[in-house]
Amino acid sequence: MQFGYSETCLDHDTGPRHPENPDRLRAIRRRLAKRHGVVYREASPADRESVAAVHTPAYVDEVQEFADRGGGNWDADTVASEATWEAALASAGLAQWAVREAMDGANGRETPFSLGRPPGHHAIEDDAMGFCFFNNAAIAAQTALDSTSVERVAIFDWDVHHGNGTQDLFYDRGDVFYASIHEDGLYPGTGEIDETGTGSGAGSTLNVPFPAGADDADYEYAITEAVVPAFESFDPDLLIVSAGFDAHRHDPISRMRVSTEGYALFTQLLRRFGDRTSTPLAFVLEGGYGLETLSDGVAAVHETFDGRDPTVGEGEPSPDAKTIVDGLLERIE
Ligand SMILES: [Zn+2]
Repeated sequence: MQFGYSETCLDHDTGPRHPENPDRLRAIRRRLAKRHGVVYREASPADRESVAAVHTPAYVDEVQEFADRGGGNWDADTVASEATWEAALASAGLAQWAVREAMDGANGRETPFSLGRPPGHHAIEDDAMGFCFFNNAAIAAQTALDSTSVERVAIFDWDVHHGNGTQDLFYDRGDVFYASIHEDGLYPGTGEIDETGTGSGAGSTLNVPFPAGADDADYEYAITEAVVPAFESFDPDLLIVSAGFDAHRHDPISRMRVSTEGYALFTQLLRRFGDRTSTPLAFVLEGGYGLETLSDGVAAVHETFDGRDPTVGEGEPSPDAKTIVDGLLERIE
């Protein structure tokens, strides 16, 4: 894969013991150093205009002023330093780079993956939350929509947390389809099955809130039976994957049971969808807080595009997971 990377993203300093810290990117780089076919690309930071295409200008100013004053706690767990402004623009710029690469035809081994931080999917129109300042995936989606070649964008968010920010930003829009699989009851508490969009966005949001303990087979069932068919009928010109790795069974902040090989499997399912429908794919890093599991997960995505078939388990979806997905399908039909 091609990885978008910027040293500037290391400067976003969240202080000691914060789970979202620069060691995450360092661990990924170390793990990828041993892999075949890894290419790093730099990208220009996002400009204010493209950030303000999804966030309010007043909020964008507020983030800049907060960082300029030295940063601090924006809320209980969202922390900025002076360098956060530049890092947030760099992170958004990497996500824009990824969609531009994808739109320009980068696929297969050239598929783009932006390794930015701070992450983005919790950031709403006018506020930072959940470690996120600017909604990188949403900014990238809007950048694609503002080009001439893309009219519809699908976003699949497999981070263990619901991407409330991304959902909110496009909730009433018919040109973006947002799908998420996440742990029910976890932060930020949104992403119920009945949150399906409103107005011209009615039916273009799909949430799969799984109970703690969901595993590869449960995710596979949801992706195969609900997410991919929904994307197929939406018929996007681009698929952005909000790729967090915190649903891993050894991630410290969730209770899901996804394995490293699970991420390879999810990648293969999305890649097949992309190949079958000629939909370009762009990956954008979200969360993932175990350095080992995060870096293994990113490497698993990379290896899948490098041609390695995932080792598929024999597991069946649990009755709970099946009930949730089947209930969702009944709702759609
Ligand atoms: Zn997360």
